[in-house]
Amino acid sequence: MLTFKNRTALVTGAGRGIGRAIAETLARQGVTVICVSKSAESCGATAAAITAAGGRAKALAVDVADGAAIAKASEELLKEFPVIDILINNAGITRDGLLFRMSEADWNDVLTTNLTSCFHWTKLIARPMTRARWGRIVNIASVSGVMGNAGQANYSAAKAGMIGLTKTLAREFASRSITVNAVAPGFIKTDMTAGFSGDAEIAGKILETVPLKRFGESSEVAAMTAFLCSEEAGYITGQVFNVDGGMAM
Ligand code: NAP
Repeated sequence: MLTFKNRTALVTGAGRGIGRAIAETLARQGVTVICVSKSAESCGATAAAITAAGGRAKALAVDVADGAAIAKASEELLKEFPVIDILINNAGITRDGLLFRMSEADWNDVLTTNLTSCFHWTKLIARPMTRARWGRIVNIASVSGVMGNAGQANYSAAKAGMIGLTKTLAREFASRSITVNAVAPGFIKTDMTAGFSGDAEIAGKILETVPLKRFGESSEVAAMTAFLCSEEAGYITGQVFNVDGGMAM
């Protein structure tokens, strides 16, 4: 067991995949979890599963690509939870294509959903954290933002941007005992990668680049993320942790 002192967390993209695993892992550690996703059905299902397992959760449908919607949701949330101690910026999308074929809409959608959302959530949720003088922020980046990946100019730029944001905010918030770290997953079995992991030929090509020769599990990303949110990780900030089977050594 890790140590969590009656904490509340907000996890974006908690409806499926990695975000759901993070929400459930934190809830098992006694953390109250606000589960955010685009559709009410998916965050509702995660919150219901947590509650059924004896944990505490609230579901909230917010489009993280909409800064005004984030502002409205945060204002309401902070009335109910005066301090949200842990923020996990996990919601993300891909719109892959080689640069010459990439539309401006695909560029903007990926930057807005993956990166600009972190700016909005952090600005609103971190202010009460600074007053409480304790906080944990974990941004779910990607190995694509660390190494680059052909066909993902928009996504790797967004994820690299999240890493830069992580390092800057780690410096800005350190004096308030708020740590800010990034987790960079490799190929994890979720809906996002179903097109790759479900196709034997594509999966084989991908696994040639993964020293551990398998796709990762959402629970493996969640375990690292939960550790970074615990009391035990209080001396770790501004770092990027690859959970990628050894891809980005
Ligand atoms: P996923 O299975 O596709 O789930 C994405 C989650 O994000 C869903 O809950 C979805 O909400 C939510 N979301 C997407 N757009 C949103 C929006 N505009 N507003 C609110 N919520 C939104 O993805 P995943 O594979 O778990 O990925 C989670 C994170 O890890 C992403 O940031 C991704 O870039 C990163 N990552 C994943 C991998 C991988 O191999 N899977 C590798 C590296 C990094 P709904 O459920 O309502 O649709």
